[in-house]
Amino acid sequence: MPAEPVLVIHGGAWAMPDSVVEAHLRGVRNALAAGWRVLGNGGSALDAVEEAVVVMEDDEIFDAGRGSFLNRDGRVQLDALIMDGATLRAGGVGCVEHLRNPVRAARKILSESPHVYFVGEGAERFAVEHGIKLCRNEELVIPREVQRLQEFQACGIDKDSADLFAATISHDTVGAVALDSAGNLASATSTGGTLNKAPGRLGDSSLIGCGCYADNKSAAASTTGWGEPMMKLVLAKWAADRVLSGSLPEWAAAEAISYLESRVNGHGGIILLDARGQFGIAHNAPRMAWAVRTMEREEAGVERVK
Ligand code: ASP
Repeated sequence: MPAEPVLVIHGGAWAMPDSVVEAHLRGVRNALAAGWRVLGNGGSALDAVEEAVVVMEDDEIFDAGRGSFLNRDGRVQLDALIMDGATLRAGGVGCVEHLRNPVRAARKILSESPHVYFVGEGAERFAVEHGIKLCRNEELVIPREVQRLQEFQACGIDKDSADLFAATISHDTVGAVALDSAGNLASATSTGGTLNKAPGRLGDSSLIGCGCYADNKSAAASTTGWGEPMMKLVLAKWAADRVLSGSLPEWAAAEAISYLESRVNGHGGIILLDARGQFGIAHNAPRMAWAVRTMEREEAGVERVK
């Protein structure tokens, strides 16, 4: 069914200090512009979320692509998922170490593979076979993150029990949800995961229904925040199901975040969009970078949406 396009972006939910607010706003606005170039010209929701996420993977301010958090071994390990609400096709990569834009590989999986999910070396081999160049892991590592990891590890915190997920530790995962003029929904989420994570740890972001979900019949969702609680609740699908049973996305997003907090003491944020163009943005972390564009309005912020 024809629709007016809508694009919603997030760039992570956490206790973001004032000093980095401008950079996050710039980042989500740039992503919004890239996605809207696709949507505004009649392009697909799938292409729009891919292009928006690529811009944020390339932006070092976010925990996605180059500039991501380092794992315990000082390496970048990336996860991403993209999903098409019209067909329910999806493509995901996990624990990849040599891809600048994991969402591009995820898109190739969605479009060109009978499989849904590839991890590690197999994902990278698939990417190469489909024309994507590998990079060295060092190219994804930036000095800010080397220092952050060193400081974290120097604290001498017991690495297995540390509260890696305190709201003060940044959660800069990125995501986008879109509705195109053909009435189709899509979503994408990309992350470097959590600081000092154990090598091989996979978060919620690239798991279908946890960090990302899209179904024309319910909604498109992307989440950010402490991944372990979110995957226990399959939170993105949980929120989309609320929309299917009649909740407005605005309410379903808020309900999802309070469920996350009350049920498993989680924190983070979610963006949610239905096929009528109604959307919700909610978070219980103090701030979340978000941006939205419709035919009528364009807005970005880091504070709670009223
Ligand atoms: N959800 C991500 C993870 O746990 C982190 C984030 O959103 O920043 O891997």
